[in-house]
Amino acid sequence: MTAVQVPGAPRIEDGLLVSTSPATGAEAGRYPIATAAEVTEAVKRARAAAEWWAGLGFAGRRQRLLRWRALLAQRIEQLAELIHTEGGKPIADAVVELVTAIEHVDWAARNARRVLGPRRVRSRLVLAEFSAHLEYQPYGVIGVIGPWNYPVFTPIGSTAYALAAGNAVVFKPSEYTPAVGQWLVDSFAEVVPEHPVLTAVHGLGDVGAALCRSGVDKIAFTGSTATAKKVMTACAESLTPVLLEAGGKDAMIVDADADLDAAAEACVWGALTNAGQTCIGIERVYAVEPVFDAFVGKVVERAGRLTVGADGADIGPITMPSQLDVIRRHIDDALARGGRAVLGGADAVQPPYVRPTVLVDVPEDSAAVREETFGPTLTINRVRDAEEAVSRANALPYGLGGSVFGRRRAVAIARRLRSGMASVNSTLTFAGMSTLPFGGVGESGFGRIHGEDGLREFGRAKAITRRRARSLLPSTTFDRTPADVARLVKAIKVMYGR
Ligand code: NDP
Repeated sequence: MTAVQVPGAPRIEDGLLVSTSPATGAEAGRYPIATAAEVTEAVKRARAAAEWWAGLGFAGRRQRLLRWRALLAQRIEQLAELIHTEGGKPIADAVVELVTAIEHVDWAARNARRVLGPRRVRSRLVLAEFSAHLEYQPYGVIGVIGPWNYPVFTPIGSTAYALAAGNAVVFKPSEYTPAVGQWLVDSFAEVVPEHPVLTAVHGLGDVGAALCRSGVDKIAFTGSTATAKKVMTACAESLTPVLLEAGGKDAMIVDADADLDAAAEACVWGALTNAGQTCIGIERVYAVEPVFDAFVGKVVERAGRLTVGADGADIGPITMPSQLDVIRRHIDDALARGGRAVLGGADAVQPPYVRPTVLVDVPEDSAAVREETFGPTLTINRVRDAEEAVSRANALPYGLGGSVFGRRRAVAIARRLRSGMASVNSTLTFAGMSTLPFGGVGESGFGRIHGEDGLREFGRAKAITRRRARSLLPSTTFDRTPADVARLVKAIKVMYGR
């Protein structure tokens, strides 16, 4: 780490990872850094714990997870305060994050048996003499690697579902948010004190890399696309399966028949909540020509009212100090290439804060439109019609979420967005809908957390056939006769040959 102590930048002292507030530099906690051997040891202990945890069955796990959910709900203010101290996130944003995470714990606990438990599935006429059984069995130990921007919501999205499915979890929190990660692990240990079913290993990126090579049965990664590629490469060595929730550059489309006040309100929140450090945050808007000027005016009016600062403000500090340079570069590039700042602009970056910035008429090939900015900035570009909006929205390799405002065609447009998720007449709402899967396409990753797909992500399908009668047309035996085969051919022609 650097000798100069930058508030918010993690540092290492005497083998401990020291986490600090980006706003004040106050220490949030210090944690021993795990060696590769210690990571492997943690996975070994988790493997023994996983057997016990799986043995509790769906009912036993549901009971424990619901107790954990209750504990999280009871201590919501305490955890929100810690998120605020460690990452700088405004308390209100932290509360919203926690409400969503708690809902996911509840849903995963209540629905795991229904989605994953043993069940009969239908047989077909072919092999009608066999019954079919399906269940999803736990992998064993899941390695969860998390980012700092939503230090509870993102790891819970994998962890709660993995635990409900019967796995143990070894969690590597971001080096920017180890205190929140450890808080989650400690609170879980209060309701599951018997075995280390959920544990944390702390450190920098190399600890995450060690977790990929530690013998875990699956890695659930949330973070940047660049790191996702490294994780997949490391996991390929041992054919360890991966779930990758990576970056995004989500677009919002404002159609001609949109409610512009509602669109502006949702846009400002979707783009600027958590100071824009949101994977599914709105970073680009395409508004159709007839409503463009009015929409921009309403966005600027609302965004211009927001307060920026440490405590009680709408927009807090940038959590990762190095991100300030990225944000500055994107703004400067957009302005240098003909874009206009209708709010904020060149001097918006005032470390550790960035004032809300709205850029219009920004070239589509500029960094502010193509790369993840992760700051309280937004581009709004003018398009002829919804058709052009869709093609511009879909032009990037990312494909995480998106939003559409409009009436008549809004759902049809949302379906055509090349993304894993979309909200119509709202922004980001799919993240809190525990019944829906969450995940991206292309450079935003693959696999799903949340919902039924999210539960299945943490179970291996186990298929069992069981004979229930003699075979009338024996085929899967060397005792079959040429006449049996001829009858089989005849039957297949009757069944499928028309
Ligand atoms: P990073 O990719 O930098 O880090 C993510 C995690 O991976 C951290 O715990 C990090 O550890 C760890 N890590 C770093 N290097 C390696 C490695 N070689 N092998 C294994 N693990 C490693 O992302 P950020 O923490 O900066 O998070 C922001 C990114 O996350 C944005 O791109 C955002 O879009 C994305 N994101 C995606 C979400 C989604 O659901 N799709 C949700 C939230 C965020 P360390 O911190 O110690 O370096």
